[in-house]
Amino acid sequence: MKFGTKAIHAGVHPDPTTGAIMTPIYQTSTYVQRSPGDHKGYEYSRTHNPTRTQLQDALAALDNGKHGLAFASGMAATDCVIKLLQPGDEVISTNDLYGGSYRIFTKVYEPLGIKFHFVPMHDMEAVRAKVTDRTKLIWVETPTNPLLNVIDIAAAAAVAKEAGALLVVDNTFSTPYLQTPLELGADIVVYSLTKYMAGHSDTVMGAIVVNDDEVHQRLSFYQNACGGTPGPQDCFLVLRGLKTLHIRMQRHCENGRAVAEYLKAHPKVEKVFWPGFTDHPNHEVAAKQMNDFGGMISFVLEGDRKEDAVAVLEKFQLFSLAESLGGVESLSGHPATMTHASIPADARKAAGLSDSLIRLSVGIEDVEDLIEDLKQAIG
Ligand SMILES: *Cc1c(COP(=O)(O)O)cnc(C)c1O
Repeated sequence: MKFGTKAIHAGVHPDPTTGAIMTPIYQTSTYVQRSPGDHKGYEYSRTHNPTRTQLQDALAALDNGKHGLAFASGMAATDCVIKLLQPGDEVISTNDLYGGSYRIFTKVYEPLGIKFHFVPMHDMEAVRAKVTDRTKLIWVETPTNPLLNVIDIAAAAAVAKEAGALLVVDNTFSTPYLQTPLELGADIVVYSLTKYMAGHSDTVMGAIVVNDDEVHQRLSFYQNACGGTPGPQDCFLVLRGLKTLHIRMQRHCENGRAVAEYLKAHPKVEKVFWPGFTDHPNHEVAAKQMNDFGGMISFVLEGDRKEDAVAVLEKFQLFSLAESLGGVESLSGHPATMTHASIPADARKAAGLSDSLIRLSVGIEDVEDLIEDLKQAIG
């Protein structure tokens, strides 16, 4: 089955009692048993809920994986993966990582005895140099946020395999429409469903997709034991969002390209970060592992002054100034004061994240209107 057909049909079945074509919201905490232990596979909704089951099956199908697990947020999914580790274990990740992941790694799990190394992962030698016999996990996010670096998933998988470690890919920015990490050798795929997957900026949720039965069993144990599970209403919203994932992503990519090219030609724009450009440092890797280049773009203004960036952000009419990304509407952000403010100024600068950097999540509006908005805001 091809991707668009799967997005609409995979994992979901007409309701057996009424024939309802859309998955009902099973708003229930518990399930009646005929006799002790004699039930229909559902006992308590933290453990299993039919709306969640259909979403988990749909998520697994879209990634060509075997098992899906849904969580109350992307961070709850990340938390569940790190619970696979023991004190003394080591993790290698990218130095250009989602801020919330960096926070849970360094502020929650480092004090519990897990060691994290952050390296520029587009250089696989830098990863290899940190491998020890304690390396248990390699954590990739690609493209990265907000500098849109691209990490070679197949190369990272080879390093992980050699090290006897699991490879995790946070696929939030790409979605399975753009890349399917399990097919490139990853062991675990993590999502913030809040972004492109749900796609309408109306719910916070996360997910994990895996192939291995034993890894699934362990993660499924933590999902139930620790309880970071989503409610059925949110599962319904994500299921509804997934049905248009392929159409939305196609338009995000088309609009992304048009906006990136407009910005690149603009005299007041110094630099544009977007992996679709042939002169992007990781373009070849992006072209190899992604089906298209997405709708996330960052750019720096000529002269690199923070006040100029703030002025542009205040003038936007359509690119609403807000955290988050991946919804149908276009958003803008200023990483230095918003999403990446917790990173010290020196470290931001060293990573190439300048104070005039503006991040755009290009939505699926008519692109002429988006270009018009950029024109009036940048001048
Ligand atoms: C938003 C985000 C997360 C965290 O997800 P939440 O749903 O906000 O908990 C993790 N990784 C990436 C890349 C994200 O953009």
